[in-house]
Amino acid sequence: MRPEPETAPLWQGGWLQSARRVASPNFGPRPVGADIDLIVLHSISLPPGVYGGPEVEQLFTNRLDWDAHPYFQQIRGMEVSSHFFIRRCGELVQFVDADARAWHAGRSAWRGRDNCNDDSIGIELEGLEGDTFEPAQYRTLQDLCVQLALRYPITHIAGHEHIAPGRKNDPGPGFDWAQLQQSLRWAHACFPECTRLTASAATRTTPAQPPTA
Ligand SMILES: [Zn+2]
Repeated sequence: MRPEPETAPLWQGGWLQSARRVASPNFGPRPVGADIDLIVLHSISLPPGVYGGPEVEQLFTNRLDWDAHPYFQQIRGMEVSSHFFIRRCGELVQFVDADARAWHAGRSAWRGRDNCNDDSIGIELEGLEGDTFEPAQYRTLQDLCVQLALRYPITHIAGHEHIAPGRKNDPGPGFDWAQLQQSLRWAHACFPECTRLTASAATRTTPAQPPTA
């Protein structure tokens, strides 16, 4: 199902050339032989619900002023990262080489394997659990997923809420999984079972084109 990796000039190693690069120190090596087959979607904004500021990039690069907002006390000292961040305007930022292990998932399990940081790509959407996301973000996300699948053997895409149920709730109910599924046209099995038929998708009739393998 994957095109040949050597036909992906948009990549320089694990760095996507179309992304604005903001290098994070929060990463490490993946286990030898890691099969990078999972994309994990998140949502984040700092302070929560405030969009457009530099705080997320500051958090992922250990430059956030913990005293700048009361909420930051809850995350003081956290050293975290994500490979990618998609801003409300659709801008794509990359913090960590996708060949490396970013620190976004925490305690987690999916498709029968735990420690999802080992073998996943983390994508943060600027947003808030329960809030909706911008059309520009879906467009960037779709492009990014396609480009990731050119370089990595992606067979699964899930939310943080799916790989860490009860502990995490992002990206949350405002994220339109049906829209992503329909735009990517990846096999239904790539997506969490609970997202395969949302209310919006269930009201649609059978698609004219069957999903591709
Ligand atoms: Zn998350």
